[in-house]
Amino acid sequence: MTRHIKIFDTTLRDGEQSPGCSMNTSEKVEIAKQLEALNVDIIEAGFAISSKGDFESIQEISYAVKQPIVCSLCRAVKKDIEAAADAIRAARNKRIHTFIATSPIHMKHKLKMIPDKVLETAVESVKYAKSFVEDVEFSCEDAGRSEPTFLVRVLTAVIKAGATTINIPDTVGYQTPDEFGILIAYLKDHVEGIDAVDISVHCHDDLGLATANALSGVLYGANQIECTINGIGERAGNTSLEEVVMALKVREDQYQCHTTINTKEIMAASRLVTSVTGSEVQANKAIVGANAFAHEAGIHQDGVLKQRETYEIMDATMVGLSKNKLVLGKHSGRHAFSGQLNTLGYHLSGDDLNKAFERFKSVADQKKEVLDDDLHAIVSDEIYTAPEIYKLISFSVHSQSTGQPNATLVLENDGETMTHTSEGVGAVNAIYATIDAMIGEPVNLVDYIVHSVTGGTDALGKVTVRIRDGERLFKGNGSALDVLMASAKAYLEAVNKMLYFRSRPSSVKPYL
Ligand SMILES: [Zn+2]
Repeated sequence: MTRHIKIFDTTLRDGEQSPGCSMNTSEKVEIAKQLEALNVDIIEAGFAISSKGDFESIQEISYAVKQPIVCSLCRAVKKDIEAAADAIRAARNKRIHTFIATSPIHMKHKLKMIPDKVLETAVESVKYAKSFVEDVEFSCEDAGRSEPTFLVRVLTAVIKAGATTINIPDTVGYQTPDEFGILIAYLKDHVEGIDAVDISVHCHDDLGLATANALSGVLYGANQIECTINGIGERAGNTSLEEVVMALKVREDQYQCHTTINTKEIMAASRLVTSVTGSEVQANKAIVGANAFAHEAGIHQDGVLKQRETYEIMDATMVGLSKNKLVLGKHSGRHAFSGQLNTLGYHLSGDDLNKAFERFKSVADQKKEVLDDDLHAIVSDEIYTAPEIYKLISFSVHSQSTGQPNATLVLENDGETMTHTSEGVGAVNAIYATIDAMIGEPVNLVDYIVHSVTGGTDALGKVTVRIRDGERLFKGNGSALDVLMASAKAYLEAVNKMLYFRSRPSSVKPYL
């Protein structure tokens, strides 16, 4: 029997800290349900003290999932720990994850604490967390740059205080695989009581080594990996769940370890996270990139057709890719529609399902075949929207080869209908200039991407925009058969999110 490696997913906490990846409560709950379908061991649902939204999301997830442990992050501070305990109260299985920095540079400049004080605070926090729950994880933030002898002191003390998992984060992504593995081995040899607790690794991808470092940690004795779907996370991101899980599965011979992840749910999870965050996966990304299982070269195609294993180490169906892409048409009923959504990882009901089904019918009326990718676009467009502070009622665009294009939009705001016309250098620019004039400020557009969701001239066009408001990025998606309509919807969604977030209290975000 090989060793069981626990998968601790932090898409909803560390992943959400990626620029432009903010998610609202319903989006997070949807992702949490998909993580449950993946069968992850632990879901880090958020950082309870950081904002009201984070707190509510953790609470909702605690109600929504049954099997995985629901975890909240908290600093080694009493009120943080209380907020975490409060947020996870309803969860069937719960964990508090508390952390404090242990590297000289963090202790001196960030915490302004001497090492002995850090150790004392760590122990107090673990004891306090333990008064609320049995399952307590402790992290030494920036462990990768901490003195190993100091880590031994801190970890020995927190285990004695009741920590059941100790996490070793390479917070800044500085470690190399050998170095990190040897650190884990050193701790395993020197920390008293370590054999009775879980050893976790949390790696960042600044040097492209997150997956390699996490696997090296496992080789040297770690039995929990912290990771995210699509590898999203602070800066260059985290260890990607799909990579470590598939590496352990395909090379079980090498690692002598296994996870209990249902790998057939990987693609659905990846697409759901892409759709919610608007952050596309690069085409050549391992496991979940669009090209990961595509064979361009003729000699490869020929080989794969004759015998798949000639050029493939995994079967695409292992990660939930189906070869049969055609799904639904205009005669498909609600049941077939909802069933197909389930297989794609969306579990909609009530109003959400009705809205999505209505939209599906109108797309199916205009298009012969509705493919999986169309369904992803429909769901992300219909369900994951910010409150519609400004609502698009109608628009018309006048554009010709001579003269300036102009756009006239009718929007609704607070029950009032408003109409305005502006000129622009192009049709899309004219629409955006009109919206800027109507909301009363110029919006800082940083990205405008048009994707044809499926092939053909009758394809559903999807537009993704990102706008910047100070430090924050907001993304909007819009899909429609008319790309100008999709452009207007995408821009308004981003603007609505921006206005909505401005009205919420600012949040504290840790660097873990
Ligand atoms: Zn992190």
